[in-house]
Amino acid sequence: MAVFHRPGTLGEACALMAERGDAMVYGGGTAVQILEKQGVLFASDLVDISGIPGLANIEETSSGVRIGPMTTLRAVETSPLVRRVTPLAARVYGHVANPRVRNTASVGGNLAHGDYRLDPPTALLVLDATVELTSSGGTRTVPLREFFVDFQRTAVRPGEIITAVEIPRQDEAAGSWFAKLSSLSANDWPCASAAALVTGGRRFGRVARRIRLGLGAVAPTPVFTQVEVAADAGADEAVDAARQAAEPLIDPIPDVRGGVAFKRHLALVAVEEAVRLSWEERSDARGFFRDRRRRR
Ligand SMILES: Cc1cc2nc3c(=O)[nH]c(=O)nc-3n(C[C@H](O)[C@H](O)[C@H](O)COP(=O)(O)OP(=O)(O)OC[C@H]3O[C@@H](n4cnc5c(N)ncnc54)[C@H](O)[C@@H]3O)c2cc1C
Repeated sequence: MAVFHRPGTLGEACALMAERGDAMVYGGGTAVQILEKQGVLFASDLVDISGIPGLANIEETSSGVRIGPMTTLRAVETSPLVRRVTPLAARVYGHVANPRVRNTASVGGNLAHGDYRLDPPTALLVLDATVELTSSGGTRTVPLREFFVDFQRTAVRPGEIITAVEIPRQDEAAGSWFAKLSSLSANDWPCASAAALVTGGRRFGRVARRIRLGLGAVAPTPVFTQVEVAADAGADEAVDAARQAAEPLIDPIPDVRGGVAFKRHLALVAVEEAVRLSWEERSDARGFFRDRRRRR
C-alpha cells in the first residue's frame, strides 16, 4: 500500500517527488483508484496536490487562459472565461465520460494519464496549448504537440508535476467542432474522436483557410495534422482534403469497441463531421453577425 502525502506547498510536493523514487502525483484520483483496485498501482508514495493553494485557478492571460492542474474537467467545461476565450476547449472538456467523472478528474491528471483515447488533447492540439512541468530542478514548458511521446507515455519525467496548461485565445471568427463517436454507451470512451478548427479566409485578405485537426482513439497517441484549402472551396472539398491529411495518421488499436477496419472507418466519419461543421460555421453569414455582436 502506497504512503499518502498531502503537502501544503508546491515546494514540498516537488521535494517529496524527488526524494521518493516511485512517487506518483495524486490528482482527482479517478484513474489512480482504479489502478489500485486492480492491483496494478506500483507507486511507493502518492503525493496529493489538492491542498496546495492556487492549483485549481483559471486565469485570463494576455494570450489566452492559464488553467491550474487541479481544476476539475467540469470547472473548465462550465467556466464563462474558457467558454469566451476558447470555446472549443470548453466544449471538449464537456464530452469527457459523465458528470461524476468530470466533477472529480483534474486537468493535470487527465493529460498525465496519457491514454490515447483522451478527449481533451484533441482540442488542445488544434489550439496549440502548452503544458507547464515543475520539479525540484525548475520549470519547463512543453507544447502539447510534443507531450504524447508513445503509447501511454508522456513527456512528464520522474519527479515532475504538471503545474499549468496554457491555451491561446481562439480566433473569434474560427469555426470549430468536436465529434466523438462511441460504439458502446454514449458516456463511454470514444471509438474515434476529432476536433477541428478552421481559421483564415477572405475576411483577413487571405485566399486559403487552414484546417487543424486533432484526433483521439485512432492511433497509439492523440495525433495532429493540418491542411490548407482554398477559401472559396465547398465543404465537400474541405472534408476530402482533411480526410486525405488524416488518413496516414490513423493506426487503430483493436479492442472491445471495434476492430481495425471499423475504427478506421469511424475515424474518417469523425473527421468528416468535425470538418464539415467547422467549415460551415466559418463560412456561415450568421457567424459574421455573431462575431460583430461579440465585439460590441
Ligand atoms: C468511467 C470512466 C470513463 C472515462 N471516460 C473518459 C472519456 O470518455 N474521455 C476522457 O478523456 N477520459 C475519460 N476517462 C479518464 C478520465 O478523464 C481520467 O481518469 C482522469 O482525467 C484522470 O484525472 P485524475 O485527476 O482523476 O487523475 P489521477 O487518477 O489522480 O491520476 C492519473 C495519472 O496522472 C498522474 N497525475 C495526476 N495529476 C498530475 C499532475 N498534476 N502532474 C503529473 N502527474 C499527474 C497520476 O500520477 C497518474 O499517473 C474516464 C474515466 C473513467 C473512470
